[in-house]
Amino acid sequence: MSSHYVPDKLPHHIQHFINGEKVDSLGGETFDVLDPVTNTTYATAAAGQKADVDAAVVAARTAFTSGPWPRMKARERARVLNTIADAVEAQEDRLAEWETFDTGLPITQARGQARRAAENFRFFADLIVAQFDDAMKVPGAQINYVNRKPIGVAGLITPWNTPFMLESWKLAPALATGNTVVLKPAEFTPLSASLWADIFTDAGVPPGVFNLVNGLGEDAGDALVKHPDVPLISFTGETTTGQLIFANAAPQLKGLSMELGGKSPAIIFADADLDAAIDSTLFGVFSLNGERCTAGSRILVQQDIYQEFCERFAARAKNIVVGDPHDPATEVGALVHPEHFAKVASYVELGKSEGTLLAGGGRPDHLPQGNYIAPTVFADVAPDARIFQEEIFGPVVAVTPFESDAEALELANNTKYGLAAYVWTSDLLRAHTFADGLQAGMVWLNSHNVRDLRTPFGGVKSSGLGHEGGYRSIDFYTDQQAVHISLGPVHTPKFGSAAASRSTDS
Ligand code: NAD
Repeated sequence: MSSHYVPDKLPHHIQHFINGEKVDSLGGETFDVLDPVTNTTYATAAAGQKADVDAAVVAARTAFTSGPWPRMKARERARVLNTIADAVEAQEDRLAEWETFDTGLPITQARGQARRAAENFRFFADLIVAQFDDAMKVPGAQINYVNRKPIGVAGLITPWNTPFMLESWKLAPALATGNTVVLKPAEFTPLSASLWADIFTDAGVPPGVFNLVNGLGEDAGDALVKHPDVPLISFTGETTTGQLIFANAAPQLKGLSMELGGKSPAIIFADADLDAAIDSTLFGVFSLNGERCTAGSRILVQQDIYQEFCERFAARAKNIVVGDPHDPATEVGALVHPEHFAKVASYVELGKSEGTLLAGGGRPDHLPQGNYIAPTVFADVAPDARIFQEEIFGPVVAVTPFESDAEALELANNTKYGLAAYVWTSDLLRAHTFADGLQAGMVWLNSHNVRDLRTPFGGVKSSGLGHEGGYRSIDFYTDQQAVHISLGPVHTPKFGSAAASRSTDS
């Protein structure tokens, strides 16, 4: 690993950002941050405790109740959001290098993340200016309108896969709608999130509107979820963490948006364009190191083309370039952290008894250190196998044959998850009928995951609760107060009037 690339000017210590200031934890606590290629500590980060979260919430609450941000006109806020987008784009090279260094994501795939993060801010800048709400008239009686209001302090809790982009996904709509925020980024990958402080300050976001507390989920995350002045929690992460947060938020009936795990199927019918399906399913499961919530990690293939698919898919998987994330030739980099590497590696070992190993199967020979796993393909995987049912979140795929549409649908829906699904067929009627039967929040027909920011994003079953994306994000981050105005005399039963006249009579 002597050639391992280390970006210039890496911080050796990463702080919180509270009320416009970069600060350490009040009690001085820190945690170590590793890079996934050498697994050595390259920085420490402030480890937020309850007291630090309390300070961030006070700042955010004050900015909400008495600062200008919630009261600005949509156009003024949109201008700031567009300035943030420009700044994110201007950081493209540094951001991509940092993201790659901290997460192990291949550099060519990290570049796309900066552009997408910027696009999230531009999109919500446009949306709040275009936003209008219903007014409803009952002729001669009443006019009603919707008064849309920001809610308060939003707690944003994010995972380590594509961290900066996923943070932007929550920051942009939360801030666009006039809320103030406390962001708790994932502890495996705090580096790129440290760029937000200067980006927001330079763009003119007032102090206290954006706050960031680093730290462990069970400390900083937990304190944010339980804080009485945080009415909204938007969470992206594992299903089990989501369940815990749901329970912890229940006593205060918080607004919750939950984007959770997945085990998404790609279903390939015999009439599909097989070349396109192979390209797409390879990319769908091995891009972003397979650490992707919408990864097509189960591939269901119709029996007539099963043999051919398996041979061609496995040959390509063996050919994928695994290596240093900073090398532009790399297609699969290093998994984020040794703990996650150990989890994925254990599933690879399990898979050897649950399916037929066609490619990969562990650490590549040429990479003796670092969190590398060769793209791994298991065929003939039965639906009750753990590698069919459980989210692995790495470069590992289970391939299973089917005969009929009905069997394919049963297999596709046969997990607790329901995030995404990909259907490959040239039969239009089958495509739409099959999509309708799928228990998945998002379906792509003849494509991998290509997003239109206006569409709902979210999962069903154990993959999530609620939808983000487009106006659905605006709805999540705002209250819609109904205001009713009478246009004439209102019929009002005169309670108490009979008794009053009786008592006067006696
Ligand atoms: P995770 O659940 O371990 O952690 C996510 C975040 O929650 C981190 O910031 C963590 O510190 C915090 N957290 C942990 N325990 C907490 C607690 N008790 N209270 C409050 N916060 C707590 O998830 P991860 O390993 O970082 O991310 C991978 C998971 O995220 C996968 O399951 C993946 O499918 C999912 N994911 C889903 C989507 C989606 O949109 N559906 C997108 C990306 C990732």
